[in-house]
Amino acid sequence: MPREIILARSAGQCFGVKRAFNIAMEAAASEDPVVMLGDIVHNEHVVQRIDSAGVKVVEDLDGSGQQGALLVRAHGAAPEVYRKAEEAGLKLLDATCPLVHEIHQVAREMAAEGYRLIVIGDHGHDEVIGIAGQVEDAIILAGPEEVQERLPKRLRKVGVVVQSTQNMENVQRILAELVPRVRELRYVDTICGPTKTHQRDIRTLPSEVDVMVIVGSFTSANTCRLTEISLEKNPRSYQVEDASGLAGEWFVDSITIGVTAGASTPDWIIDEVMEALEKLPD
Ligand code: SF4
Repeated sequence: MPREIILARSAGQCFGVKRAFNIAMEAAASEDPVVMLGDIVHNEHVVQRIDSAGVKVVEDLDGSGQQGALLVRAHGAAPEVYRKAEEAGLKLLDATCPLVHEIHQVAREMAAEGYRLIVIGDHGHDEVIGIAGQVEDAIILAGPEEVQERLPKRLRKVGVVVQSTQNMENVQRILAELVPRVRELRYVDTICGPTKTHQRDIRTLPSEVDVMVIVGSFTSANTCRLTEISLEKNPRSYQVEDASGLAGEWFVDSITIGVTAGASTPDWIIDEVMEALEKLPD
């Protein structure tokens, strides 16, 4: 029986990251130098393409003496970054995902209506810093155990938004801790559509196939999380950075192979992995 290889519909980059990559490549083709604060996505292949095209990554804008344009990445930035770029005389190329812009807007509206903002998300993540930076005194919560540690004793009105790529189960656990502690809680589900589809697919596909392959960088938290969930459903789950990481012995006696990829993995790497899998001996 020929082997069946099923690629998850949600595999790979979301439209926000693809859009940011295209903006970066177009900018690189212009004459002005372009700088970016940090890598565009956690994927070495993408980073290398952008670097070869001429977009330079800098750690900070302070005293960097940069000229040209600053590219704001898909997960956005705090207003302070825009201010610094303006002061430095840099032109702004805003590749912030429109869905992240929406989260910023919700955060500002909540603050304007007197809600103390809580951002559920990972500490130190640029998207979370950018959301929290929209208002004064936002509280960031990464897990339910932080509710007691970080929440002030008396809070009447709390508004909650979520990092676009958060895991829904974590959000639900945090909300369950928050509800008994505050008088009025307003929650807006800001996990984005592509993330939800990704999370749904990874909960079903691994149990339906003999072997599961997850394509993406080991430095991508999102890809490693997919591998973790996949391993819970199917012990024959393997993560590879690209086609060169595949090992023939993983697929012995397999009839069905499922493939997915982290939100930072580009299509050309997924295509190469699919081609290599199709060439496996029966
Ligand atoms: S993960 Fe969602 S919010 Fe983030 S860039 Fe992609 S589509 Fe936009």
